[in-house]
Amino acid sequence: MANSKMYKCFKEVTDCIEENEDYDEIRRDLARSILCGPELQTKGKILQPKSELRRGFKNKYSAFLSLIRQSQLPEALWAHYKYSLPKAKILQNYKINKSDWHVLEKFISDTLANDDSLPQILAAIQHHAFEENNIRYEVIFDEKAMDDILIAATEGYLSPKKQGGTYYETFGVCLGTMTNIQNARSNTKSEKRIIHVSKCPPQISSQASYDRFKPMDESYAALEKVRKHSFPQFSIVGEFHSHPYDNLADLRDCRGRKNSEKDAKRWAWAKKSGDYGDLHFALVVAITQLRKKRAVGMRYLTDNHLCFNIEDLRVHLSGTRILSSGNLSERNLKIRFSKMMA
Ligand SMILES: [Zn+2]
Repeated sequence: MANSKMYKCFKEVTDCIEENEDYDEIRRDLARSILCGPELQTKGKILQPKSELRRGFKNKYSAFLSLIRQSQLPEALWAHYKYSLPKAKILQNYKINKSDWHVLEKFISDTLANDDSLPQILAAIQHHAFEENNIRYEVIFDEKAMDDILIAATEGYLSPKKQGGTYYETFGVCLGTMTNIQNARSNTKSEKRIIHVSKCPPQISSQASYDRFKPMDESYAALEKVRKHSFPQFSIVGEFHSHPYDNLADLRDCRGRKNSEKDAKRWAWAKKSGDYGDLHFALVVAITQLRKKRAVGMRYLTDNHLCFNIEDLRVHLSGTRILSSGNLSERNLKIRFSKMMA
């Protein structure tokens, strides 16, 4: 039996419109708003019921939409219809309450799936634009987590897998926690998510060459065993891999940060499949040899891109957001170290 807060709110709204003469129209309007989520709220205005039942409708409706906005339900429904992702995956990926899903998905299907408005709406909405512009991320690496990444990238650069071999990319996952911070001002839709990264184990079994890597599925199962046993409070929140370069000129050519097309495809696919953690960001660690040891302090080029030296190596760290839709963005992402904040 569904009895969540969202369900109660939804029931109040639908009770308001039930015996209304414009019932069908209002119902379609409501379904569209749920599916479009916060995006439609700026563009459209829901019809007001005309009957006695309308009392308090506006407040109930905005309370309901505010719950929708806080959830990932619009994105989840959108992903469900657009990509035909199975229900179990959706619930897991978007952290949706099962009974909320049951009630609201049925409402959308009953209301919109029988006419041709659903495909039209799906074509019109781009949920990632909302997420990209209105949700800000701050990813804070614990000192130890960043050390893990730097050791892995440096080993991949300096220690070939076989004698006479060349450098290779190293890959690993970022484990930590995420906190949502709603903006206190009621009329703004912006939101901040703080991710604390506590562990970044390199994936020992991943296959890698100088310009690519291939993660191993079995490695995730192994990690999951240890995670449940030793650090159940953390989950996979992102991943990292290194881009090794021959020299500084090569690294500069791509501004030390360019993600390959292959990277973009992998992140989009990994995000949608949900089998590789709830990926919110990816970090590329570009690394190269300098001619001589140079003391250069840490320098931010942008919020999500910084560089520094380790002895005679130059390192660039650049972060990319992976949106729910699988699209990538460098907007509203800040990379920080807990060491710097102390
Ligand atoms: Zn790459």
